[in-house]
Amino acid sequence: MRLHWTLRCSECADERAAEGLHGVCPSCGAPYLVRYASLPEPALRGALGIRVGGLWRWREWLPLREDEAPVSLGEGGTPLLSVPRLAARHGLPHLSVKDESLNPTGSFKARGLSAAVTRAVGAGASRFVVPTAGNAGVALAAYSARAGAVATVVAPRDTPPVILDQIRGFGAELELVDGHIGDCGTRARAVAASTGAVDVSTLREPYRIEGKKTLGLELAEQCAWSLPDVIVYPTGGGTGLIGMWKAFTELREAGWIQGPLPRMFTVQAEGCAPVVRAFAAGADRCEPWERPHTTAMGLRVPSPLGGRLMLRALRQSRGGAIAVSDDALQAAAGALHGLEGIDASPEGGAALAGAVALVAGGQVEPDERIVVFNTGAGWLYRP
Ligand SMILES: *Cc1c(COP(=O)(O)O)cnc(C)c1O
Repeated sequence: MRLHWTLRCSECADERAAEGLHGVCPSCGAPYLVRYASLPEPALRGALGIRVGGLWRWREWLPLREDEAPVSLGEGGTPLLSVPRLAARHGLPHLSVKDESLNPTGSFKARGLSAAVTRAVGAGASRFVVPTAGNAGVALAAYSARAGAVATVVAPRDTPPVILDQIRGFGAELELVDGHIGDCGTRARAVAASTGAVDVSTLREPYRIEGKKTLGLELAEQCAWSLPDVIVYPTGGGTGLIGMWKAFTELREAGWIQGPLPRMFTVQAEGCAPVVRAFAAGADRCEPWERPHTTAMGLRVPSPLGGRLMLRALRQSRGGAIAVSDDALQAAAGALHGLEGIDASPEGGAALAGAVALVAGGQVEPDERIVVFNTGAGWLYRP
């Protein structure tokens, strides 16, 4: 049976059949994105409401054959929480938090890895490798176990110990590297070349983006098919940002939503802010950040492969990019805990601190509908 989607290079528009395994575009090195032959009819919105399950409720929007069972642990379907005490403290009456800490493996990485492992296993893969700042490694380890496959995770030696324990606990082979995720990527590509493992690095395969797209689909449904004004997203490799923007443009194209799309804002840490720097410079690509450092491990991505796609989404949406200090992001994570009972990761704290800074700087109005993402659970970062 032919697949109902193809792959299209995000730069040179090379288009090819999606059967089999695919890395980046062989002619220009840019990521492939999934392109569907047709998008679901708006009439499906009613049927969605009575379906159970998280991410794979959206299967018509996703790269899954009709007869195929996904590799799933119940990911997705996370709450969009109102946060009245934080809203009052900051004078932001329409602030809410999409709490991704409730996913299997404690972060929204579960969404992307569920989709990527499903597709690779469907194409016959039984061995995986990923370079990670931490959470992608936990998710790959769990979804590989779920698929009966073997995983190698390459992580920085200074990754929080709980995260490393989780990776080992799910049975992955763990390699520690003195360096950051970029250094881990070099090692992961060597592992892939020598073992034949499928490299599921951010945007080196096309399907993690599709899993992350469900962040945007869920948000649209939770907002009664009328999207918020502003999205504030803690950005590392950019899958969430690129995936959500893909969701919104596909939803509009399919006639599921009308009107303006949200303004997308990236938040990064001051110690590693390649997207913020490129956005401010008017550049269309990111230059590698020297000596990246931040306690928000997921944001320590000095040279994201998806830089061009992120910058495009930020500009097309009329959004922006802002950096916050580690002190500010930790304090904001503490406020999410203490004022609202949300187990925020440092990255989730960064999103909140970024939203507050964007309002203070006049880029966002206080009465706008603002959604910040708590991308992972705080317990993973305990010393
Ligand atoms: C990976 C990660 C991020 C960054 O996400 P991208 O989609 O790669 O930009 C943010 N927060 C947490 C907790 C993460 O694990």
